[in-house]
Amino acid sequence: MKIGAIIVAAGRGTRAGGGLPKQYRDLLGKPVVAHSVERFRALASISDIVVVVHPDDRALAAAACPGARLTDGGETRASSVAAGLAALPTGTTHVLIHDAARPCVSQALIGRVIDGLSNSPGVAPALPVTDTLWRAEGEKAVAIQSRDGIARAQTPQGFELGSILRAHASAPLDATDDVAVALAAGIDVAIVRGDEQNLKITGAQDFARAAQILEPALDIRTGIGFDVHKFTKGDGVILCGVKIPHNAALLGHSDADVAMHAITDAIYGALAMGDIGRHFPPSEPKWKGEPSDTFLRHACGLATSSGFRTTNIDCTIICEQPKIGPHADAMVARLSEITGTGISRISVKATTTETLGFTGRGEGIAAQAAVTLVSQ
Ligand code: MG
Repeated sequence: MKIGAIIVAAGRGTRAGGGLPKQYRDLLGKPVVAHSVERFRALASISDIVVVVHPDDRALAAAACPGARLTDGGETRASSVAAGLAALPTGTTHVLIHDAARPCVSQALIGRVIDGLSNSPGVAPALPVTDTLWRAEGEKAVAIQSRDGIARAQTPQGFELGSILRAHASAPLDATDDVAVALAAGIDVAIVRGDEQNLKITGAQDFARAAQILEPALDIRTGIGFDVHKFTKGDGVILCGVKIPHNAALLGHSDADVAMHAITDAIYGALAMGDIGRHFPPSEPKWKGEPSDTFLRHACGLATSSGFRTTNIDCTIICEQPKIGPHADAMVARLSEITGTGISRISVKATTTETLGFTGRGEGIAAQAAVTLVSQ
């Protein structure tokens, strides 16, 4: 089986808005037709792709589908497809014909059509009709239309090349798809399961739906934070909101909770929203001695208002003294309380630097943190 694909992009409809035929309008940074072509290009079983375009749109098509084989379409859909069939290279045995306005077609769906071609000269995807159907006269419902035997047609529609070429030689002028052409020529068409996500972009609202399908809203962000505070005279340090007795304190404008600062900066980082110094400038006297949970709560609030929740926090405290291990559970509990993140998703651990460097010499404490935010 040597399979070619024809992407039919010859329509000039501007109903979808934007002043351009819909297949050239932007969808997630590239034209709709480019998405459709890429879906087929990604499949090793497709040998050739022909994009059928309106002669007036050649430049648009060349920019949208660089390197693709372009051919001019005709007056009707059927004549455009016939032009595409004629442009397939010699040796092609089967063809998949797809509407450029269906950019969300899945590889699984294309695969079902290809598989079906082993047993049938024509294969097309379709979906059942689940809504009740009415017959209407103007604005008035006048009768119920049975759904029995009704299916919603999709593309790509696959055919033996010889059969569909012969069918197109006498295609009805009003054929709206290639199944219509095939049936008029007596070619059997088997139905395979379609896909609700394989929508046809028709109106302006379909762009948002297609974008949602191609790029689901799940957004995962990772942020890292790092902070250092030096020791000064005192009788204890505050780390992750927990006071730990020590023969020194940490120096800082706030309560100098170096670990909580690193976590807070990791959240700001994941959001690409600056750092503690930007939101709470040390030059402002009102933040003097401020408990650091103020900062962490602020960062979490920004995350929530931006549509994210924190799914994990991992913090490493770097110092020789005090010992962190005995206080780690209390720190996790305090972080959980402030951030609303479950304790099984928070890690506080410690390391020394083997007496090397400023932490090794006991001049201060450093902390690193990584957080993950997930859209909700
Ligand atoms: Mg700090």
